[in-house]
Amino acid sequence: MFLSDSFSVNAENHLTIGGVDTLKIAQEYGTPVYVLDEDKIRRNCRAYASSICRNYPEGGLVLYASKALCCKELCRICMDEGIGLDVVSGGELYTAHSVGFPMDKICFHGNNKTLRELTMAVEYGVGRVIVDNLPELEHLEYIAGQQNKTVDVLLRIKPGVEAHTHEFIRTGQIDSKFGFALETGEAQDAVQRAAAMRNVHLTGLHCHIGSQIFDDEPFIEAARVMLDFMAQMRTQYSISLSELNLGGGFAIRYRETDPTPLSEKYMDRAGAFIRGYAEKLGIPVPFIYIEPGRSIVGDAGLTLYTVGSVKTIPGVRTYVCMDGGMFDNPRYILYQAEYEAVCADRAGDARTSVVTIAGKCCESGDLIQEHTAIQPVQPGDTLAILCTGAYNYSMASNYNRNGKPPVVMVRDGKARLIVRGETLDDLIRCDL
Ligand SMILES: *Cc1c(COP(=O)(O)O)cnc(C)c1O
Repeated sequence: MFLSDSFSVNAENHLTIGGVDTLKIAQEYGTPVYVLDEDKIRRNCRAYASSICRNYPEGGLVLYASKALCCKELCRICMDEGIGLDVVSGGELYTAHSVGFPMDKICFHGNNKTLRELTMAVEYGVGRVIVDNLPELEHLEYIAGQQNKTVDVLLRIKPGVEAHTHEFIRTGQIDSKFGFALETGEAQDAVQRAAAMRNVHLTGLHCHIGSQIFDDEPFIEAARVMLDFMAQMRTQYSISLSELNLGGGFAIRYRETDPTPLSEKYMDRAGAFIRGYAEKLGIPVPFIYIEPGRSIVGDAGLTLYTVGSVKTIPGVRTYVCMDGGMFDNPRYILYQAEYEAVCADRAGDARTSVVTIAGKCCESGDLIQEHTAIQPVQPGDTLAILCTGAYNYSMASNYNRNGKPPVVMVRDGKARLIVRGETLDDLIRCDL
C-alpha cells in the first residue's frame, strides 16, 4: 500500500517503513526526520544491476547518481552492491573517497567543474571524467600532464531529444547549459580534439535527457542519436568510441494517480534496441552505463514531521502547519513537486480531509503540498510525507537557521542513525 512496498500499516494502525513503526522512530529521533529503508534501496540497486547484466553481457555498469542523496552510508551501500557512483562536485567525490569507494567506479560530472575539482579528480584517479566543454578538456589535458597521468573521459553530448513527462520533441536548436551540441559541429570538433590529446583518453560519450521520465521513447531516441554519432565518428575519422553512458532520469511514483514507472521493462527494450541498432550500423555494442538517482532512493524514503497548528480559514482552506518545510524539502517551492501525505498515527483510516501542508519558514510559499487528502489531523499528530528519499536531504538548506534533520536508516526491523541532525552549535560553527 501507499506507492512503495516499503510503506505499510501495522496492527496498531500506524504507518511503517521497512516494517518499523514510524511513531517509534519519531519518538526516538524527534521530528523532522528523514527515514530510509535499506532493503528497498538495495532491491532498487539490484534490479538495475541485474538488468544491465541481462541486457549487456558485453559489459555495463550502474552508477548511482549521488546528487539524489549523498552521504557516507549511501556510498557504502552502493560499494557493497557493486555499483558505481556519479558525482557532480568535489564534495560528493570527497564523501565517496572518505569511505574508500573504488575510484575507478566513479564518473565525475558537472558543466563547470573548478580547476580544484578537476585536479582532485585526476589525483584520486576517478574512473571517467564526463567532459562538458572545451576549456575543461584543455584543463584536464594540462592537469593530467602535470601529474604524469592519463585520464579517461566521456564527452557529454546534447542528443537533441527533449524529454517531458509523456512525450518527446526533437529540438533543432538545443537550449541547455550542459554538453556539446551535435548539429553545430561542436560535438564532432570536441571528439577530434579529445582523440588527439596525449594525457586525455577518450573512451566514449554521455547523454542525459532529463528527470522523472515515465516514457521510454525519449530514452530510445537518445540512444539512436548517440549510436548514429558513434558510427559517424568511426567511418569519418576512424575514431572508435567504445562506451556509451545513457544517463538517468527514470521516474518514480509520487502520487497514487501516477503511472507505473519504466524500470526493467525499459531496460530490456532499450537493451534490445541498442544491440540490434549497433549491429545494423556495423559497430560493436558499446559498454553501457546508466545513472539512476531518484529511482534508487526516492521510493525508499519518507519524512516525518509533527503537526503544530491546524488553521481552518472558512471557505478558503485548512493549513496544517508542521515543524519542517522548505529547509528540509524545497521541492514544492522550487517546482510544485507532488507528494502524498499520511497521518502516521492513523495510517489505515480513510483520507477524508483536504488540506494544505505548510512548513515553519517565513515564506508564504513554504508549503509541501496544497489541497491534498489526508486523515483528519490534530496538533501533536505525526505527519508522513512519502517518497522523499531523493532530492530532499540533498537539497536541504539552513534557511531561517534551521538545522538539517537527521537521516535514519531502517533494516531488519531496526532503526539506526546514518546522518545526525544539526545542532544549534553546528549552525554557528563557521561563523567568525
Ligand atoms: C540528475 C542526473 C542523473 C540522475 O537523474 P535521476 O532523475 O535522479 O535518475 C543522472 N545523470 C546526470 C548527468 C544527471 O544530471
